[in-house]
Amino acid sequence: MAPASSGNRSSSTTSFWSVLLATALIASASTAAALLLLFPSRRHRRRSPPPHPQEQEQEPGGGYAALIGNTPLVELQSLSKATGCRILAKAEYLNPGGTSKDRVALRMIQEAERAGLLKPGGIVVEGTSGSTGIALASLCRARGYRCLIVMPDDQAAEKVHLLQQFGAEVEVVKPAGIANPNHYYNRARTCAQELGKEAVFMDQFETMANFHAHYHGTGPEIWRQVEEGFGGLRPDAFVMSAGTGGTIAGVSRSWKERREGGREVRVFLVDPPGSALFNKVKFGVCYAREQRERGVRRHRYDSLAEGIGLDRLTANFKEAMVDDAFRVTDQEAVDMAHYLLQNEGLFVGSSTAMNVVGAVRAAWEMGEGHTIVTVLCDSGQRHLTRFWRREWVEGGERGLKWPERPWTDLRFLRGGEEEG
Ligand code: PMP
Repeated sequence: MAPASSGNRSSSTTSFWSVLLATALIASASTAAALLLLFPSRRHRRRSPPPHPQEQEQEPGGGYAALIGNTPLVELQSLSKATGCRILAKAEYLNPGGTSKDRVALRMIQEAERAGLLKPGGIVVEGTSGSTGIALASLCRARGYRCLIVMPDDQAAEKVHLLQQFGAEVEVVKPAGIANPNHYYNRARTCAQELGKEAVFMDQFETMANFHAHYHGTGPEIWRQVEEGFGGLRPDAFVMSAGTGGTIAGVSRSWKERREGGREVRVFLVDPPGSALFNKVKFGVCYAREQRERGVRRHRYDSLAEGIGLDRLTANFKEAMVDDAFRVTDQEAVDMAHYLLQNEGLFVGSSTAMNVVGAVRAAWEMGEGHTIVTVLCDSGQRHLTRFWRREWVEGGERGLKWPERPWTDLRFLRGGEEEG
C-alpha cells in the first residue's frame, strides 16, 4: 500500500507540477506574444506596411502610366563624404516624362476621369512652367485627350519644342504677376472656360490631387527605400524647393505624421531669389523684395531657376510642414550643377542644383551622422539653351560666372541666409 500510496502521492504531485508547468508555459507564451505585439522586432517592423499613409497603387492594366513612380533613390557619395551625413536623392527625372510631374499629371487626370469631368475626346488644359505640361501631354497621347498648355516665355525653349512634339497645343505668354489676367495660370483657366464643358482645367497649384500624388506616392516610397536600401536607416531631413508646393507638402506631411520612435523629421524649404516663400517660413510674411521691382525687370523672378519659386501661397504649399528655409543664390546653383557633373556624373537642372545646395546646408546645420533626402527634379538636358549655356548664364544682368574649372570641393557655398 505504501508504495501505492506513495505512488498516488507522487502521481498527484507530478500532476500538480505538470499543471503548474503548463500554466507557467501558457502565461510566458502569452506574455511573449503580448510583448511582440507591443514592441515588434526591428526586422518585423520593417516588413510590415507603414501604418500611414498607404503607398499609391499602380494603375491596373500597365501601359504608359505603369512607368510612373518607383524611381531610384541614389546616394550622392561625394557629398556624404564631404558632410559626414548620408545625402540621398530621389531620381525623379527618371520618370517617363522626365520629372515628378508625371505623378501629379496622372493623379489629376485620374481624379477628373473619376469625377466624370474628363470624358473620351475631352481637352486637358493647364498653365505650367513646362514640366507639368510635358507630363500631361504624354498622358493625353496615351489616353486619347487633346491637350492645351499655356506657359511663360522665360523658360528653356526645349520645353516648348517637346510639348509640340508630344502633340500639345501651346500658347506662350509674357511673364506677368498673378493679379494680371494674362499670367499663364489665369490665361489657362480662361481658355478652359472658353472651350466649354469638354475642357478641364487641371489647376496644379490649387488642386489637392497634386498633394495626394506625393503624400501617397513620393513620400512613402522614399521612406521605404531609405529603410530597405540603406540598412534600416530612417530619413532625418527632407530638403526641397517649391514650384506649386505639392512635393514639399506631400512628402513633409506623410513623414511628419509617422513620428516613429519619437523622432520627428526636419523639413527645409529651398527658395530661389525673388520667391516670397523664404520670408513666409522665416518670418511669417509672404514677401520678396523683388516683387516691388518686378515692374522694371524683364523676369518675373530675378532667378535663373526654372519651375520653382512662388509669389503667393498656393493651396498645396499651405499643406506643407516646414521647419526652416534656405535662400540659395543663382551662382551657388550654377556652381553646384558643375560640381555634381564633375564629382557624381549627374547632369542636373537648376532646381535640382538648388535642392542639393540646400541638402548640404541641412547637413551642416544638423551635424554629422544624419540622413538627408532631397530630389533630383529634372535633367540638364531640359536646360541646354539656358542654365547649361555659358553665354546665357554670363550674359544677363545677374553677374554670374561660369566655373573655369569644375569644383572638386564645396568652397563655393556661402551665406545666403539673411533676407535679401
Ligand atoms: N523642379 C522643376 C523642374 C519643376 O518643374 C517643379 C514643378 N514646377 C519643381 C521643381 C517643384 O515641384 P512642386 O511643384 O512639387 O513644388
